[in-house]
Amino acid sequence: MKILVSSCLLGEDVRYDGANSSVAYDPKFSFSIKELFMDILCENEIYSFCPEVAGGLSVPRDPAEITSHEKPFKIQKENGEDVTINFLLGAKKALDICQEENIKVALLKSNSPSCGNIQTYDGTFSGKLIESSGMTARLLNENGITVFNENQLKELNKFIKTNNLTFAR
Ligand code: SF4
Repeated sequence: MKILVSSCLLGEDVRYDGANSSVAYDPKFSFSIKELFMDILCENEIYSFCPEVAGGLSVPRDPAEITSHEKPFKIQKENGEDVTINFLLGAKKALDICQEENIKVALLKSNSPSCGNIQTYDGTFSGKLIESSGMTARLLNENGITVFNENQLKELNKFIKTNNLTFAR
């Protein structure tokens, strides 16, 4: 199955701080979860994608948070600079790839203002998470692409097993 995956989860140094969020090296994940992650990577067609870089932002970059979680969305740096357009552009490019390549599922980094599928930071730069979706996760979801995060690998694996034949080209 084709899966769009946040580049930082694959170990690419594309995060705002120039680091990555590699599942394979993260001590918070058990060995069996890391094995499952590697199995998913090896058994599927992986499309690595970072919406913020695709949206024109640099590495490293200032962190940004969603400051308006409803339409019209707003994403700002802590100094108030508006970077909404970069986030929307990155989300649109992610959707374009999914539609062009017939990708029906994504594994995206939790809590990110682009990739978070369940929670994101509230916009006060105080580390507080709220129930909300990042711009890319939201747009993919709205267009029928099922989004999981790195804490939902078992659910993703189940989804792959259940839908493998349905989505096979
Ligand atoms: Fe990772 Fe997504 Fe942030 Fe890029 S935008 S660094 S892929 S969480």
